[in-house]
Amino acid sequence: MKSTFLITMCDLSLAELKNFPPASTRILMIESQRKWQALPFHRKKLTLGISAMRHFRLELEQAGYPVDYRHEADFASGIQAHFREYQPERIFAFQPREWGMQQILTDLAGNLPLTLIPNPFYLLPREEFIRWAEPQKSLRMETFYRWMRQRENILMQNGKPLGGRWNFDKENRQPPPEWAYPDPPFVEPDEITRAVIEIIEAQPGLWGSAEDFRLPVTRAAAVDWMEHFFRWRLADFGPYEDAMRRGDYLLTHSLLSAFLNLGLLHPREVIERAIQAAQQFAVPLNSLEGFVRQILGWREYIHGMYWYRMPEYRQFNFFQHQRGLPGWYWNPEDCELACLRDSIEMVRKHGFTHHIHRLMVLSNFANLTGINPLRLSEWFWAAFMDAYEWVELPNVLGMATYADGGLLASKPYISSGSYINKMSNYCADCRYDVNKKQGKDACPFNYLYWAFLENHRDKLIGNPRMAVMYRVLDRKSDEEKAAIRRDSENFIASLPGEEAAYRFDYDAG
Ligand SMILES: Cc1cc2nc3c(=O)[nH]c(=O)nc-3n(C[C@H](O)[C@H](O)[C@H](O)COP(=O)(O)OP(=O)(O)OC[C@H]3O[C@@H](n4cnc5c(N)ncnc54)[C@H](O)[C@@H]3O)c2cc1C
Ligand code: SF4
Repeated sequence: MKSTFLITMCDLSLAELKNFPPASTRILMIESQRKWQALPFHRKKLTLGISAMRHFRLELEQAGYPVDYRHEADFASGIQAHFREYQPERIFAFQPREWGMQQILTDLAGNLPLTLIPNPFYLLPREEFIRWAEPQKSLRMETFYRWMRQRENILMQNGKPLGGRWNFDKENRQPPPEWAYPDPPFVEPDEITRAVIEIIEAQPGLWGSAEDFRLPVTRAAAVDWMEHFFRWRLADFGPYEDAMRRGDYLLTHSLLSAFLNLGLLHPREVIERAIQAAQQFAVPLNSLEGFVRQILGWREYIHGMYWYRMPEYRQFNFFQHQRGLPGWYWNPEDCELACLRDSIEMVRKHGFTHHIHRLMVLSNFANLTGINPLRLSEWFWAAFMDAYEWVELPNVLGMATYADGGLLASKPYISSGSYINKMSNYCADCRYDVNKKQGKDACPFNYLYWAFLENHRDKLIGNPRMAVMYRVLDRKSDEEKAAIRRDSENFIASLPGEEAAYRFDYDAG
């Protein structure tokens, strides 16, 4: 009797099934209604995932696998129904990437012959990350990254970092360039994708639109997308990695997260190809190293941290922020902060913005205005096409809002308007004045920033990396401090309330 291999939306790789040949393996794939309905997901995100699954089913069938592709109310009932129908000797699955699915499979393992295989979609298995993390005094990404460079022998020369430095970020902080980059290789939807778009467009309670969906949904198209990035954007990745430009959701970034997180690409192949492409296209080391660090460093580290500290990561709320997410995050039209409005509009249109909009606008604003970090995390999870809990949760609660109290970041990533002004072209067209510190025309980031520092003095004053800012704050006069408090309270009181009462269905898998 054949065994079964459960393939979830994030496991879309034929190569990883090499030890499970078609002659002895039946594939089980499940579209779970409960999962789709767990949050008001972006329609493009669901279209990407479902269409990629349906295309992968064809690939599996062409490779000779029998596939039981089910549309079910939820994952658990789908797996049980499959077992009743086919009675496999054993059901295999990769270790799920997310906690919710891990719980479902652990529960089912009590009654079904279920075996989890180490997850092959990272360079470092989660168990090895935990072995690395346990003896560390501090769990900083930079320490992990250097260890990974040596462990994997990537960008190393005679035991030393290539170019003599581990990181070239000093050269990587340029404001946005003037020129445009060519469009990536969008893909016209085929019959399968068009059918998915139709279903998703008709589904109520979702966000955005999938009508103009043109992203890769197969491995071959994802490889083309990656190659296009290497040819046209990689060389400029370093210098402009922190820059933001109105309406430009990619700038010099790759969008490869969407394909990596589905399993269509493997992080090792992306890194290896980036190193080859750097020679082919004369990519400077600051860009190559910056890009490799994102995948070899940040992505592996975030994945490891998630499994190291789940499920408690969901509970972190260092600043005890309790406010709901302002309705602007779903409907930004009335938002007068040009940077925030544009960043949300890009997410609503594309299901995507690059890293700096996520960190320095969307999360910075939420943190400065006291939004509950778990509500923000749920928004990211729903809204971004590359979002899965394993990656958005540590990014939102760790890196972006310091809700984990410094487990991940050495200080909160907060800023006033001057950082946004320096790194973007937003402020010139904003109704607020980035140079004004007080009053109704002042940039809200300016007074919110100082009010945040004052409000959380007891929690942050002991952090040596915050000392300079507290010295600046303490030099402000009492009148200035009173104005900061007043403007900040008035602004926060004027924020729109939560758009709709939603809560994530964490048991959906
Ligand atoms: C608040 C917040 C939420 C985020 N949510 C997600 C998410 O849901 N899914 C997700 O994949 N990334 C998330 N990130 C990380 C990062 O912003 C995205 O991976 C990146 O913007 C994806 O775009 P890209 O593929 O163009 O990345 P590039 O800038 O081209 O980088 C290349 C790759 O590096 C990896 N990478 C870079 N930074 C990170 C990081 N901090 N964590 C994990 N991987 C990283 C990604 O796989 C990415 O594809 C989040 C970051 C923040 C600050
Ligand atoms: S002035 Fe302030 S609110 Fe307006 S775009 Fe600049 S940083 Fe954003």
